[in-house]
Amino acid sequence: MSDIKENLRIIQKEISKLSPTLVAVSKTKPISDISIAYEEGQRVFGENKVQELCEKQEALPKDIEWHMIGHLQSNKVKYIAPFVSLIHGVDSEKLLKEINKQGEKNQRKINCLLQVHIAEEESKFGFSTDELVCLLASDYEETYPFVNITGLMGMATNTSDTNQISNEFKGLNKLFNSMKMEHENFTELSMGMSGDYKIALECGSTMIRVGSAIFGKRNYKK
Ligand SMILES: *Cc1c(COP(=O)(O)O)cnc(C)c1O
Repeated sequence: MSDIKENLRIIQKEISKLSPTLVAVSKTKPISDISIAYEEGQRVFGENKVQELCEKQEALPKDIEWHMIGHLQSNKVKYIAPFVSLIHGVDSEKLLKEINKQGEKNQRKINCLLQVHIAEEESKFGFSTDELVCLLASDYEETYPFVNITGLMGMATNTSDTNQISNEFKGLNKLFNSMKMEHENFTELSMGMSGDYKIALECGSTMIRVGSAIFGKRNYKK
């Protein structure tokens, strides 16, 4: 009897790894909206502004995993270092160095994803493939002992051309898979937002960042 339960638990755990982590992107949305999602069992939330992230973390239940999803300035790492669960958009060695420093101060290893530039647009941040290969070939685990690099993150071009989006995601997945073989901590591939998460899942995403499809359109006027 107890074996059946145990077996079931093991299998459930195994298959649950195949389903992606849903990061509910709550940026610009009020605490009350987050509470509704929380009551539905959602525990992973993403924000892209440090101040907003800190205020919400302070006000909401402590079992929420907070992800920093947007571009992060080095001088603001210190505010989120004590509690952040995952930083998605690490796009420079300068930032990595600062995260390591703040990780040491807080005596915790901070989980990070390296952002890769896959989109056509110039404006999207991220490492080029060459820069990434170079960083990963270095002794980065010794250089940054308070950083735990758990995978890659990317954003596709903002286009209605689904073929292009799919090709960009597939390219990132290929890169991820090749790196996974040598870097055992590489378990997460963060790609896919409200408009393209279904394509991203077909292309190997393990983590999708969905905002407006959950919370509705954002109103940026303050
Ligand atoms: C805002 C944002 C998202 C979510 O965007 P939606 O289109 O609302 O799902 C995902 N990733 C990043 C980096 C973002 O800044």
